[in-house]
Amino acid sequence: MVKSFQPTTLSEALDIRMNYDVMVFCGGSDIMIKYRSWSGTPAQFPKDVMYIGHLKELKSLDVNPSEITIGAAVSFSQFLNDERIPTMFKKPIEQIGSVAIRNIGTFAGNICHASPAGDTLPMLYALNAKVVLMSKRFRRVVAIEDFISGPGVTCLKNDEILTYIIIPNTIFSHSFYRKVGSRKANAISKVSVFAVADVVEYRLADVRIAVGSCGPIVIRLKDAEARIIGSNISESDQTVNSLLRMFDDKIVPIDDVRSTKVYRSKVALNLIETFLAKELRQ
Ligand SMILES: Cc1cc2nc3c(=O)[nH]c(=O)nc-3n(C[C@H](O)[C@H](O)[C@H](O)COP(=O)(O)OP(=O)(O)OC[C@H]3O[C@@H](n4cnc5c(N)ncnc54)[C@H](O)[C@@H]3O)c2cc1C
Repeated sequence: MVKSFQPTTLSEALDIRMNYDVMVFCGGSDIMIKYRSWSGTPAQFPKDVMYIGHLKELKSLDVNPSEITIGAAVSFSQFLNDERIPTMFKKPIEQIGSVAIRNIGTFAGNICHASPAGDTLPMLYALNAKVVLMSKRFRRVVAIEDFISGPGVTCLKNDEILTYIIIPNTIFSHSFYRKVGSRKANAISKVSVFAVADVVEYRLADVRIAVGSCGPIVIRLKDAEARIIGSNISESDQTVNSLLRMFDDKIVPIDDVRSTKVYRSKVALNLIETFLAKELRQ
């Protein structure tokens, strides 16, 4: 039988993490599915577990003009209900699961689960978010694209806990999130695109595009973005086409139970085109 730990402080949690081989969890909405068992029987966890979703230190949500810092135990609902957070950051979050899932699910769980279909990830990649990883002895801050290296694979060490997520509080003139799933609620993405741009006097001062569910990790092409910065949005058909070609080369989806690679590629490119050729010109 597995042991379960419920520390009362973050310091105690870090002690337990250092001394025992435990699986850390917050909302449990991923691990309860992954290790589910027959109805009425306990989940089949492969090792001891430690619940940290109640820790006061990790429930904080700080918003200042330069960044938003989200504690690992902040639920999606807490994030959505916070009026200090601009709408742009809420667009992908309001499409996650259902109210029940948003009441327990967290950014930390979504990031550590490291699924290319995770709905927080395209936004976190596009906005250059960072994660704070703490152990009893060290604290390190890692860019989201360096934290995740494949489906379910992260650089989290055995004695570390992901404690905070830091998102630069940059405001853009345009923001866009489209998730394509089998239905409106409780659907895992077949394709998702998060994009932001800053348009100043018809010129693209900044643009970021990140695509989810179309490869082992979220796809963001910083070189391609750099090439179209400065272009005029009303004369950018050629620019749009060359950017689409660059994405087409990098989008490498798979066929799986949710969709086919042909569908995923086509829809991802359509969504990027919608953002660049329609939304930006409105
Ligand atoms: C019905 C249903 C619908 C869903 N719909 C969506 C959806 O639309 N979009 C979507 O992206 N996801 C969806 N999910 C998946 C899930 O809800 C999300 O991934 C959620 O963000 C997970 O957060 P959690 O806190 O519940 O994770 P948990 O289950 O607690 O943990 C997930 C993983 O992260 C690790 N972990 C968690 N917190 C930490 C930490 N602080 N430090 C280190 N490791 C940690 C755990 O060990 C585990 O491996 C759905 C799940 C269900 C059951």
